[in-house]
Amino acid sequence: MPEGARPVILSLERMRAVRGLYPDENTMVVEAGAILADVQDAAEAQGRLFPLSLASQGSARIGGLLATNAGGVNVLRYGNARDLCLGLEAVLPDGSIWHGLKRLRKDNTGYDLRNLLIGAEGPLGVLTAATLRLFPRPSAEGTALLAVTDPAAALALLALARDRIGDGISAFELIAAQGPLFLAETMPDVRLPFENPWPWTVLIDLGLAADGDPEAALTGLFEAALEQGLVSDGLIAQSEAQRAVFWAMRESIPLANRAVGAIASHDISLPLSQIPEFLEAAPQALAEIGAFRINAFGHLGDGNLHYNVFPQQGDTRDRWRDKKAAISRLVHDMVHAREGSISAEHGIGRLKTADLERYGDPAKLAAMRAIKDALDPYGIMNPGAVLHAAP
Ligand SMILES: Cc1cc2nc3c(=O)[nH]c(=O)nc-3n(C[C@H](O)[C@H](O)[C@H](O)COP(=O)(O)OP(=O)(O)OC[C@H]3O[C@@H](n4cnc5c(N)ncnc54)[C@H](O)[C@@H]3O)c2cc1C
Repeated sequence: MPEGARPVILSLERMRAVRGLYPDENTMVVEAGAILADVQDAAEAQGRLFPLSLASQGSARIGGLLATNAGGVNVLRYGNARDLCLGLEAVLPDGSIWHGLKRLRKDNTGYDLRNLLIGAEGPLGVLTAATLRLFPRPSAEGTALLAVTDPAAALALLALARDRIGDGISAFELIAAQGPLFLAETMPDVRLPFENPWPWTVLIDLGLAADGDPEAALTGLFEAALEQGLVSDGLIAQSEAQRAVFWAMRESIPLANRAVGAIASHDISLPLSQIPEFLEAAPQALAEIGAFRINAFGHLGDGNLHYNVFPQQGDTRDRWRDKKAAISRLVHDMVHAREGSISAEHGIGRLKTADLERYGDPAKLAAMRAIKDALDPYGIMNPGAVLHAAP
């Protein structure tokens, strides 16, 4: 039972209309209950791209995606949900309606309520509609899986890819061998593109304009990376079906993780240059607690990794229940010491309120509390989420 006032559960399922789509402006206005996949389809029907893309897109709704400032696989190129929203309509805790559905790229008229409500996770008001940014659809797309020697080589590959291909890179995902091994163990129906997983794989996705040739760009990148000793093997998708196989592997890893059952999961981000050292140091530190399997994977291009700790094969996670807090504390302490974030894209919710208090900047926490008290003095909106409910 959450702390504080008794919550009312609100469903926005029926508020799913597209209120307007303006292809020439690259904007659309949708209600908060619209499902992400439907919004992507509506944009596509007008020859436009709404680039927010994540494995939950068949169920996640625009209101939830903006309230959590969701990330997903295209942040590297297009930004996260916050960057894709130009305006909002919201019901504030006092019942007033903020009509902020502007379709403007420039609007410096005082405090930015939109950015305050995005990522707030609901405690400051209910989002009812949003103006979203659209983009031209890439004319040609390509995907490759490249075997990198280690995470440092993956970062060097990212820099090389950006030098050669620029903004054409839409996704740059790191996959540790543990991910495909978990897939083979728990979801044998998911086709793996290789027989034996490489220790570290990068999935790179390109979307180029009309005169671009993704296959040539990926081949050139592979050859240059091979010459620099960054990669040892690679697969470049030869068809849309093969691209789908590559992506299905990546997108199924969270489901395989769930099937195996993590002792502790972490959604962390780090300054890019800190990632290789963290990936070397964290398993050594965890080994002091016990013997674990670790699956580190995710949005390397954004410095965001899902760092999940599992029992060894034949062991059970129940046996480690009383060590879960110590494991997370160790991982989060290491992230904090390297100026990272203990919640890169999944938010705080109710599970991480104590972590936010531990690692959050005191001045920021005080400002957050003051804003919450000013906008919602009775604590009626999403009590206990993000900040502990006032006693
Ligand atoms: C398989 C899978 C993969 C995922 N992959 C990613 C990923 O790659 N990147 C990523 O960032 N996230 C990922 N997620 C989580 C993703 O953030 C959520 O699916 C989505 O952001 C939340 O949308 P929802 O409609 O499910 O919101 P809900 O779960 O319903 O709500 C989320 C929060 O937002 C609040 N909220 C919801 N609607 C509103 C509203 N209208 N106004 C105010 N507050 C509101 C809720 O109170 C709650 O606090 C994944 C989830 C799954 C299941």
